[in-house]
Amino acid sequence: MSRLDSFIRRLTAQRDILNAIVALVNGTEGPVLEFGLGNGRTYDHLREHFPDRRIIAFDREVRSYSSSTPPAENMVTGDIRKSGQAFVGIGAALAHADIGTGHDEIDAITLTWLPQLMVGVLARDGIAVSGLPLERPELEPLPLPAGVKEGRYFLYRRT
Ligand code: SAM
Repeated sequence: MSRLDSFIRRLTAQRDILNAIVALVNGTEGPVLEFGLGNGRTYDHLREHFPDRRIIAFDREVRSYSSSTPPAENMVTGDIRKSGQAFVGIGAALAHADIGTGHDEIDAITLTWLPQLMVGVLARDGIAVSGLPLERPELEPLPLPAGVKEGRYFLYRRT
């Protein structure tokens, strides 16, 4: 499979999962956290699906399209490994982390702290969606929507 095909399949999986979890997320109160704002594509998608929720986005710096940039009070800049700690206990209904790089050595470092952070920010029954696998006993893997291959994108519920 070419890298282009692989990229398209990953984004399709990301979108299909974000579309599939709306009802699940709506069963839980709390904000939505977007780890890795990037250019704001998934932030914009989340905003469409959760128009009445506070959506807090994180990135090293703001590089999103102006139309997909959160208001200042909902934008947290800096390294998520550190900046995310202030949000532990916030009781998020959904945390989406799209911060994988495709470089195994970099992603391995991210995986030393991201799973704990996701557990820490989520409410009970909160949903974790991630481009990297999150192996924690508190995160129960959920079935993926039809057509999304195992291992392409990851979906969990906080127990
Ligand atoms: N989901 C986004 C979208 O649809 O536009 C794309 C996210 S992009 C693949 C990943 C983003 O995560 C990058 O903007 C990068 O700067 C950010 N990122 C990765 N690791 C980070 C970290 N440790 N702290 C802060 N930002 C990080």
